[in-house]
Amino acid sequence: MKHLRHLRKYFVRYRWRLAVGIFFILVSNYFGVLAPQVTGFIIDYVQRALKLPGYQPKAEAANYDVLVQRFIDTVEGREYSVGTIVAIAGVTILVLALLRGLFMFFMRQTIIVMSRRIEYDQKNEVYAHYQKLDAGFYKANSVGDLMSRMAEDVSRVRMFTGPAIMYLTNLVALIAMTVFFMYKRSPELTLYVLSPLPLLAFTIYRVNTVIHRRSEALQATLSAITVNAQQSYSGIRVIKSFVQERAMEGFFEANSEKYRRDATELAKIESLYFPSMALFIGISTLLTIMIGGLQVISGEIRLATIVEFVIYINMLTFPVSAIGWTASMIQRAAASQKRLNEFLHTEPLIVNPEEAQKPALHGAIEFRSVSFVYPNTGIRALHEFSLSIRPGEKVALVGRTGSGKSTVVQLLLRLYDPTGGEVLVDGVPLRRIDLAHLRGGISYVPQDGFLFSDSVARNIAFGSGTVDMESVRSAATAAAVHNEIMSFPKGYETLVGERGVTLSGGQKQRVSIARALAKPSPILVLDDSLSAVDTRTERAILDHIEAYLRERTSIVITHKVLSLSGFDQIVVLDEGRIAESGTHDSLLKQNGIYAEMYRSQLAQDDRTAI
Ligand code: ATP
Ligand code: MG
Repeated sequence: MKHLRHLRKYFVRYRWRLAVGIFFILVSNYFGVLAPQVTGFIIDYVQRALKLPGYQPKAEAANYDVLVQRFIDTVEGREYSVGTIVAIAGVTILVLALLRGLFMFFMRQTIIVMSRRIEYDQKNEVYAHYQKLDAGFYKANSVGDLMSRMAEDVSRVRMFTGPAIMYLTNLVALIAMTVFFMYKRSPELTLYVLSPLPLLAFTIYRVNTVIHRRSEALQATLSAITVNAQQSYSGIRVIKSFVQERAMEGFFEANSEKYRRDATELAKIESLYFPSMALFIGISTLLTIMIGGLQVISGEIRLATIVEFVIYINMLTFPVSAIGWTASMIQRAAASQKRLNEFLHTEPLIVNPEEAQKPALHGAIEFRSVSFVYPNTGIRALHEFSLSIRPGEKVALVGRTGSGKSTVVQLLLRLYDPTGGEVLVDGVPLRRIDLAHLRGGISYVPQDGFLFSDSVARNIAFGSGTVDMESVRSAATAAAVHNEIMSFPKGYETLVGERGVTLSGGQKQRVSIARALAKPSPILVLDDSLSAVDTRTERAILDHIEAYLRERTSIVITHKVLSLSGFDQIVVLDEGRIAESGTHDSLLKQNGIYAEMYRSQLAQDDRTAI
């Protein structure tokens, strides 16, 4: 339950709404408990006026609520006939019911609306927190898990902040008011009538716990069936080719059988719920009539009292029966809030420095014997990596897969902090530079370029806030993708991604490059962004973006070494260490890894050219 404490700030934020909601609950219940009193009065009055047998003039005082008492004084003060008074009372009861309903409406309007606002705020809180968390967090948690916490858990918590609080307050208010008026009328009878109530609440709670447990089990079986079915549909080709239809059917049948059994069990226990409730309510009513009847005969209470009590008991039926339901809503909400808190209490490892600096970025980059170990796997990706880049230089990082190239640029973007050494941009350590300022100064094309489900134009203009078609077009032209975009049905307005056209691997890469080029920044990083285009297109793109590169520092990661002759520095990485570095010519002279790569790619290129 302590997990729900996290919600306190929301209740504080909406305290007035909550207070007004609780006020409405009180008022609606107040009107509710007046009706039985008016009914009691009218029975009493008819008995008295018509001098019916069994009327107990000396029985206990009527003890009506002040409003009811005033009503009685008014109608009795006039010279109305019995029939008129009965009619007036009838209309009054109707009006009371309407008022009760009206305030119930207001109560839902305030409390349910409050819960929706809290849900909205909480969703935003969770989303904003997710955005702050670092790359390491996203590696450690699955997207499915993040999504389900954001959607399902938040809405389960809403069941607490809305319906559960409403029903609970309503129940407490109603019990307090009915018991108050019953007790005022006849303390003894009240005790008798309420005696089965604790037992009722306990039974409902127990039964509900079982229902809760069984329905969770049922839910688990259902999701097993769904996963089973989904896998057999998407893997249908494998299943058929391995002739495993029978086995899959057997699987499915076993799960379905379990589901049927669970569901039957649940139905059994559920069918116990209402009869047991009716039983307890029945016992209460019976006690009222029996004991009350004896007391009427002995002249202790009036007939009207019995009628009032029976109506009160019936009013309590629904709220009391909702106890179990409310309890399980609260349990679920607490479990969900616990899951949410786990993430909300995760502090991002990469945070903006206290006294963040915003140096003018010219593009000088320095890695000072940087080492890095991935926190989640313990893989040592970089050892004492040192590299110094002057503003405007073009640097290529090459090396075998897994040699640490992507790691170098992730450290530059401060997606991770190095475990040893330091990275500096324009002489300032990254840890002291304002994060947004730093990242804003780097145009980055990640290795697994991601496009949003949106138009091509908005994807390209993503980093600049507004869509300036002029710069979008020139970026696309430089990335050698303009012509292809123009051949799409709607040109730059074509939707890409899940709901739109599917771009080829090479087109996706070039749109990603265009996006980086459209963002004005002093540093450009291309992480293997040309892997899906052939060497000639790569050369063409590099020539095209020559103008962009001239003013910027650029780091190009690539596996293709044929187009690197114009680079100022070429760094060859091997198992996280610098194996060689120099210019194209000097590396060829060294006759090491680079020269080897160059020769083998040249031979391959010649073969494909034939
Ligand atoms: P490629 O050419 O295949 O892209 P790379 O040179 O970019 O390879 P990196 O991605 O830097 O290689 O990876 C260096 C090492 O770090 C590898 O051994 C890899 O398995 C490991 N590694 C990379 N990313 C992570 C991660 N997020 N968590 C844990 N280990 C990682
Ligand atoms: Mg990589």
